[in-house]
Amino acid sequence: MLHYALIGHPLGHSLSPQIHRRLFQLEGMEADYLLDDFPPQELEAHLPILRRYAAFNITIPYKTALLDRLAGISENARLYGSVNAVQVKDGRLYGDNTDCTGFLRTLESAGLALRGPVCVAGAGGVGRMFALEAARQGAQVTLAARASSLDKARQVAAEAREKLGAEIAVRPLETLAGPVGLLINATPAGMYPRVDAAPVPRAVVEEASAVFDCIYNPSQTLLLQWARELGKPAVGGMGMLVWQAAAAHELWHGTRFSHRVVGQLIQEMEAVLAEREAQG
Ligand code: NAP
Repeated sequence: MLHYALIGHPLGHSLSPQIHRRLFQLEGMEADYLLDDFPPQELEAHLPILRRYAAFNITIPYKTALLDRLAGISENARLYGSVNAVQVKDGRLYGDNTDCTGFLRTLESAGLALRGPVCVAGAGGVGRMFALEAARQGAQVTLAARASSLDKARQVAAEAREKLGAEIAVRPLETLAGPVGLLINATPAGMYPRVDAAPVPRAVVEEASAVFDCIYNPSQTLLLQWARELGKPAVGGMGMLVWQAAAAHELWHGTRFSHRVVGQLIQEMEAVLAEREAQG
Protein backbone atom coordinates (compact mmCIF):
# COMPACT_ATOMS: atom_id res chain seq x y z
CA MET A 1 0.00 0.00 0.00
CA LEU A 2 1.31 3.44 -0.94
CA HIS A 3 1.23 6.14 1.72
CA TYR A 4 0.46 9.79 1.06
CA ALA A 5 0.01 12.58 3.62
CA LEU A 6 -0.76 16.17 4.41
CA ILE A 7 1.92 17.81 6.54
CA GLY A 8 1.28 20.94 8.59
CA HIS A 9 0.80 22.27 12.11
CA PRO A 10 -1.77 22.39 13.54
CA LEU A 11 -3.91 20.32 11.16
CA GLY A 12 -7.15 20.16 13.15
CA HIS A 13 -10.09 18.61 11.30
CA SER A 14 -8.66 18.70 7.78
CA LEU A 15 -10.88 17.40 4.96
CA SER A 16 -7.83 16.35 2.93
CA PRO A 17 -7.89 12.63 3.87
CA GLN A 18 -11.53 12.35 2.72
CA ILE A 19 -10.86 14.22 -0.53
CA HIS A 20 -7.73 12.26 -1.44
CA ARG A 21 -9.17 8.86 -0.48
CA ARG A 22 -12.12 9.56 -2.82
CA LEU A 23 -9.67 10.56 -5.57
CA PHE A 24 -7.70 7.30 -5.06
CA GLN A 25 -10.98 5.37 -5.28
CA LEU A 26 -11.86 7.15 -8.54
CA GLU A 27 -8.39 6.26 -9.88
CA GLY A 28 -8.75 2.61 -8.75
CA MET A 29 -5.60 2.95 -6.62
CA GLU A 30 -4.74 1.15 -3.37
CA ALA A 31 -3.35 3.97 -1.27
CA ASP A 32 -3.82 5.69 2.06
CA TYR A 33 -3.72 9.38 2.97
CA LEU A 34 -2.70 10.41 6.49
CA LEU A 35 -2.50 13.61 8.50
CA ASP A 36 1.11 14.19 9.57
CA ASP A 37 1.03 16.99 12.16
CA PHE A 38 4.39 17.95 13.70
CA PRO A 39 5.76 21.24 15.10
CA PRO A 40 8.31 23.31 13.12
CA GLN A 41 11.18 22.48 15.51
CA GLU A 42 10.81 18.82 14.41
CA LEU A 43 11.01 19.51 10.67
CA GLU A 44 14.69 18.50 10.33
CA ALA A 45 14.22 15.23 12.24
CA HIS A 46 11.04 14.54 10.24
CA LEU A 47 12.66 14.72 6.78
CA PRO A 48 13.45 10.95 6.60
CA ILE A 49 9.73 10.21 7.22
CA LEU A 50 8.72 12.63 4.43
CA ARG A 51 11.10 10.87 2.04
CA ARG A 52 9.24 7.59 2.58
CA TYR A 53 5.85 8.91 1.37
CA ALA A 54 4.89 8.33 -2.28
CA ALA A 55 3.96 12.02 -2.32
CA PHE A 56 2.56 14.56 0.12
CA ASN A 57 0.72 17.85 0.41
CA ILE A 58 1.79 20.79 2.51
CA THR A 59 -0.11 23.37 4.46
CA ILE A 60 0.80 26.10 6.94
CA PRO A 61 3.54 26.58 8.16
CA TYR A 62 5.57 24.43 5.73
CA LYS A 63 4.52 25.88 2.34
CA THR A 64 7.56 28.15 2.41
CA ALA A 65 9.63 26.45 5.14
CA LEU A 66 10.31 23.39 2.98
CA LEU A 67 11.45 25.33 -0.09
CA ASP A 68 15.19 24.98 0.58
CA ARG A 69 14.90 21.23 1.34
CA LEU A 70 13.67 20.39 -2.16
CA ALA A 71 15.75 18.83 -4.94
CA GLY A 72 13.61 20.64 -7.53
CA ILE A 73 10.80 23.17 -7.72
CA SER A 74 8.34 24.05 -10.50
CA GLU A 75 8.32 27.49 -12.12
CA ASN A 76 4.89 28.28 -10.57
CA ALA A 77 5.94 27.29 -7.06
CA ARG A 78 9.04 29.49 -7.45
CA LEU A 79 6.97 32.48 -8.60
CA TYR A 80 4.44 32.17 -5.74
CA GLY A 81 7.20 31.23 -3.24
CA SER A 82 4.93 28.45 -2.02
CA VAL A 83 4.87 24.66 -2.39
CA ASN A 84 1.78 22.62 -1.54
CA ALA A 85 2.39 19.36 -3.43
CA VAL A 86 5.57 17.28 -3.27
CA GLN A 87 6.47 14.21 -5.24
CA VAL A 88 9.10 11.83 -3.85
CA LYS A 89 11.40 10.22 -6.41
CA ASP A 90 14.27 8.01 -5.15
CA GLY A 91 14.05 9.73 -1.77
CA ARG A 92 14.38 13.20 -3.32
CA LEU A 93 11.66 15.82 -2.93
CA TYR A 94 10.22 17.76 -5.91
CA GLY A 95 7.84 20.61 -5.12
CA ASP A 96 4.96 22.13 -7.06
CA ASN A 97 2.04 24.45 -6.45
CA THR A 98 -1.45 23.17 -7.20
CA ASP A 99 -3.26 25.78 -5.07
CA CYS A 100 -3.13 28.14 -8.02
CA THR A 101 -4.40 25.46 -10.42
CA GLY A 102 -7.24 24.86 -7.93
CA PHE A 103 -8.06 28.55 -7.91
CA LEU A 104 -7.98 28.84 -11.72
CA ARG A 105 -10.09 25.72 -12.34
CA THR A 106 -12.66 26.96 -9.80
CA LEU A 107 -12.95 30.28 -11.64
CA GLU A 108 -13.16 28.44 -14.97
CA SER A 109 -16.00 26.20 -13.67
CA ALA A 110 -17.91 29.33 -12.64
CA GLY A 111 -17.29 31.05 -15.99
CA LEU A 112 -15.13 33.74 -14.35
CA ALA A 113 -11.85 35.03 -15.79
CA LEU A 114 -8.88 36.94 -14.42
CA ARG A 115 -9.48 39.83 -16.80
CA GLY A 116 -10.13 43.55 -16.28
CA PRO A 117 -10.15 44.88 -12.72
CA VAL A 118 -9.42 42.32 -9.99
CA CYS A 119 -9.26 43.24 -6.31
CA VAL A 120 -7.55 40.86 -3.89
CA ALA A 121 -8.23 41.41 -0.17
CA GLY A 122 -5.36 40.06 1.96
CA ALA A 123 -1.63 39.94 1.29
CA GLY A 124 -0.68 36.65 3.00
CA GLY A 125 0.46 33.51 1.20
CA VAL A 126 -2.73 32.98 -0.79
CA GLY A 127 -3.37 36.68 -1.51
CA ARG A 128 0.15 36.98 -2.86
CA MET A 129 -0.43 34.03 -5.20
CA PHE A 130 -3.82 35.35 -6.42
CA ALA A 131 -2.41 38.84 -7.05
CA LEU A 132 0.69 37.58 -8.91
CA GLU A 133 -1.34 35.17 -11.04
CA ALA A 134 -3.91 37.85 -11.93
CA ALA A 135 -1.06 40.24 -12.82
CA ARG A 136 0.60 37.51 -14.90
CA GLN A 137 -2.68 37.08 -16.82
CA GLY A 138 -2.84 40.83 -17.55
CA ALA A 139 -5.62 41.85 -15.13
CA GLN A 140 -5.62 45.31 -13.51
CA VAL A 141 -4.84 44.19 -9.99
CA THR A 142 -5.46 46.00 -6.71
CA LEU A 143 -4.03 44.33 -3.62
CA ALA A 144 -5.88 45.59 -0.54
CA ALA A 145 -4.53 44.82 2.91
CA ARG A 146 -5.12 45.92 6.48
CA ALA A 147 -2.50 48.23 7.98
CA SER A 148 -0.47 45.39 9.58
CA SER A 149 0.20 43.75 6.20
CA LEU A 150 0.51 46.76 3.87
CA ASP A 151 4.29 46.25 3.75
CA LYS A 152 3.77 42.65 2.60
CA ALA A 153 1.42 43.95 -0.11
CA ARG A 154 4.05 46.44 -1.28
CA GLN A 155 6.60 43.61 -1.49
CA VAL A 156 4.21 41.64 -3.72
CA ALA A 157 3.81 44.71 -5.97
CA ALA A 158 7.61 45.07 -6.17
CA GLU A 159 7.93 41.39 -7.09
CA ALA A 160 5.27 41.72 -9.81
CA ARG A 161 7.20 44.64 -11.30
CA GLU A 162 10.53 42.81 -11.14
CA LYS A 163 9.48 39.28 -12.19
CA LEU A 164 6.51 39.97 -14.47
CA GLY A 165 6.93 43.60 -15.54
CA ALA A 166 3.38 44.14 -14.23
CA GLU A 167 1.92 46.83 -11.96
CA ILE A 168 -0.15 45.98 -8.87
CA ALA A 169 -1.87 48.87 -7.04
CA VAL A 170 -1.67 48.60 -3.23
CA ARG A 171 -4.45 50.07 -1.06
CA PRO A 172 -5.47 49.98 2.59
CA LEU A 173 -8.40 47.55 2.81
CA GLU A 174 -10.63 50.08 4.58
CA THR A 175 -10.32 52.62 1.74
CA LEU A 176 -11.73 50.34 -0.99
CA ALA A 177 -14.51 52.12 -2.89
CA GLY A 178 -15.81 52.45 -6.43
CA PRO A 179 -15.86 49.64 -9.03
CA VAL A 180 -13.59 46.78 -7.92
CA GLY A 181 -14.28 44.17 -10.63
CA LEU A 182 -13.75 40.59 -9.45
CA LEU A 183 -13.45 40.77 -5.65
CA ILE A 184 -11.34 38.00 -4.12
CA ASN A 185 -11.20 37.32 -0.39
CA ALA A 186 -7.78 35.98 0.63
CA THR A 187 -8.20 36.67 4.36
CA PRO A 188 -9.67 34.40 7.05
CA ALA A 189 -12.38 37.02 7.80
CA GLY A 190 -15.73 35.16 7.86
CA MET A 191 -14.23 31.72 8.53
CA TYR A 192 -15.94 29.36 11.04
CA PRO A 193 -16.56 30.03 13.94
CA ARG A 194 -16.48 33.84 13.35
CA VAL A 195 -19.02 33.62 10.56
CA ASP A 196 -20.52 37.08 11.14
CA ALA A 197 -17.35 38.80 9.83
CA ALA A 198 -16.40 39.88 6.30
CA PRO A 199 -13.17 41.39 4.95
CA VAL A 200 -14.99 44.40 3.46
CA PRO A 201 -18.34 46.13 4.05
CA ARG A 202 -21.40 45.25 1.93
CA ALA A 203 -21.00 48.56 0.03
CA VAL A 204 -17.78 47.18 -1.55
CA VAL A 205 -19.59 44.02 -2.69
CA GLU A 206 -22.19 46.27 -4.35
CA GLU A 207 -19.34 47.63 -6.49
CA ALA A 208 -17.99 44.17 -7.45
CA SER A 209 -18.80 42.35 -10.69
CA ALA A 210 -18.33 38.92 -9.03
CA VAL A 211 -16.94 37.47 -5.78
CA PHE A 212 -14.57 34.60 -5.05
CA ASP A 213 -14.09 33.73 -1.37
CA CYS A 214 -11.23 31.32 -0.63
CA ILE A 215 -12.84 30.32 2.68
CA TYR A 216 -14.55 26.91 2.49
CA ASN A 217 -15.96 26.68 6.02
CA PRO A 218 -18.75 27.75 5.99
CA SER A 219 -19.57 27.04 2.35
CA GLN A 220 -21.64 30.23 2.30
CA THR A 221 -19.75 33.08 4.00
CA LEU A 222 -21.34 36.43 4.79
CA LEU A 223 -19.41 37.88 1.81
CA LEU A 224 -20.92 35.28 -0.55
CA GLN A 225 -24.38 35.77 0.96
CA TRP A 226 -24.20 39.52 0.23
CA ALA A 227 -23.02 38.88 -3.34
CA ARG A 228 -25.85 36.38 -3.98
CA GLU A 229 -28.44 38.74 -2.48
CA LEU A 230 -27.15 41.37 -4.93
CA GLY A 231 -27.46 38.90 -7.85
CA LYS A 232 -23.69 38.68 -8.48
CA PRO A 233 -21.79 35.51 -9.42
CA ALA A 234 -20.32 34.19 -6.14
CA VAL A 235 -17.99 31.23 -5.64
CA GLY A 236 -16.67 29.69 -2.41
CA GLY A 237 -13.35 28.04 -1.50
CA MET A 238 -14.40 24.36 -1.45
CA GLY A 239 -13.88 24.24 -5.22
CA MET A 240 -10.30 25.45 -4.80
CA LEU A 241 -9.63 22.90 -2.04
CA VAL A 242 -10.92 19.94 -4.07
CA TRP A 243 -9.38 21.12 -7.36
CA GLN A 244 -5.93 21.61 -5.79
CA ALA A 245 -6.11 18.00 -4.58
CA ALA A 246 -7.25 16.76 -8.01
CA ALA A 247 -4.42 18.74 -9.64
CA ALA A 248 -1.92 17.06 -7.28
CA HIS A 249 -3.12 13.62 -8.46
CA GLU A 250 -2.76 14.85 -12.03
CA LEU A 251 0.89 15.71 -11.29
CA TRP A 252 1.60 12.52 -9.36
CA HIS A 253 -0.25 9.97 -11.53
CA GLY A 254 -1.23 11.79 -14.71
CA THR A 255 -4.97 11.44 -13.89
CA ARG A 256 -7.14 14.20 -15.37
CA PHE A 257 -10.46 14.53 -13.52
CA SER A 258 -13.40 16.10 -15.36
CA HIS A 259 -15.31 19.20 -14.15
CA ARG A 260 -18.34 16.92 -13.66
CA VAL A 261 -16.50 14.47 -11.36
CA VAL A 262 -14.81 17.23 -9.36
CA GLY A 263 -18.13 19.12 -9.14
CA GLN A 264 -19.71 16.03 -7.52
CA LEU A 265 -16.79 15.71 -5.10
CA ILE A 266 -17.13 19.38 -4.12
CA GLN A 267 -20.81 18.78 -3.26
CA GLU A 268 -19.90 15.63 -1.29
CA MET A 269 -17.30 17.54 0.74
CA GLU A 270 -19.71 20.40 1.43
CA ALA A 271 -22.15 17.78 2.76
CA VAL A 272 -19.40 16.20 4.93
CA LEU A 273 -18.58 19.63 6.35
CA ALA A 274 -22.24 20.50 7.01
CA GLU A 275 -22.76 17.18 8.82
CA ARG A 276 -19.60 17.71 10.88
CA GLU A 277 -20.73 21.20 11.93
CA ALA A 278 -24.25 19.92 12.74
CA GLN A 279 -22.70 17.34 15.09
CA GLY A 280 -20.69 20.14 16.75
P1 NAP B 1 -2.01 34.15 5.80
O1 NAP B 1 -0.72 33.96 5.11
O2 NAP B 1 -2.08 34.11 7.29
O3 NAP B 1 -2.63 35.55 5.28
C1 NAP B 1 -3.85 36.05 5.74
C2 NAP B 1 -3.95 37.54 5.35
O4 NAP B 1 -5.22 38.01 5.79
C3 NAP B 1 -2.91 38.42 6.02
O5 NAP B 1 -2.60 39.47 5.13
C4 NAP B 1 -3.67 38.95 7.26
O6 NAP B 1 -3.17 40.17 7.70
C5 NAP B 1 -5.04 39.14 6.66
N1 NAP B 1 -6.11 39.13 7.64
C6 NAP B 1 -6.29 38.25 8.65
N2 NAP B 1 -7.44 38.52 9.31
C7 NAP B 1 -7.98 39.60 8.70
C8 NAP B 1 -9.15 40.37 8.91
N3 NAP B 1 -9.99 40.08 9.90
N4 NAP B 1 -9.39 41.42 8.11
C9 NAP B 1 -8.54 41.73 7.11
N5 NAP B 1 -7.40 41.04 6.84
C10 NAP B 1 -7.14 40.00 7.63
O7 NAP B 1 -3.08 33.06 5.31
P2 NAP B 1 -3.20 32.39 3.86
O8 NAP B 1 -2.43 31.12 3.85
O9 NAP B 1 -2.96 33.41 2.83
O10 NAP B 1 -4.75 31.96 3.89
C11 NAP B 1 -5.78 32.95 3.82
C12 NAP B 1 -7.12 32.27 3.82
O11 NAP B 1 -7.22 31.40 2.70
C13 NAP B 1 -7.40 31.37 5.04
O12 NAP B 1 -8.71 31.60 5.47
C14 NAP B 1 -7.28 29.97 4.52
O13 NAP B 1 -8.12 29.07 5.18
C15 NAP B 1 -7.75 30.15 3.08
N6 NAP B 1 -7.20 29.13 2.16
C16 NAP B 1 -8.08 28.45 1.39
C17 NAP B 1 -7.61 27.49 0.52
C18 NAP B 1 -8.59 26.72 -0.31
O14 NAP B 1 -8.18 25.73 -0.94
N7 NAP B 1 -9.84 27.09 -0.38
C19 NAP B 1 -6.23 27.26 0.40
C20 NAP B 1 -5.36 28.00 1.19
C21 NAP B 1 -5.85 28.94 2.08
P3 NAP B 1 -1.95 40.23 8.80
O15 NAP B 1 -0.74 39.68 8.09
O16 NAP B 1 -1.85 41.65 9.08
O17 NAP B 1 -2.38 39.37 9.95
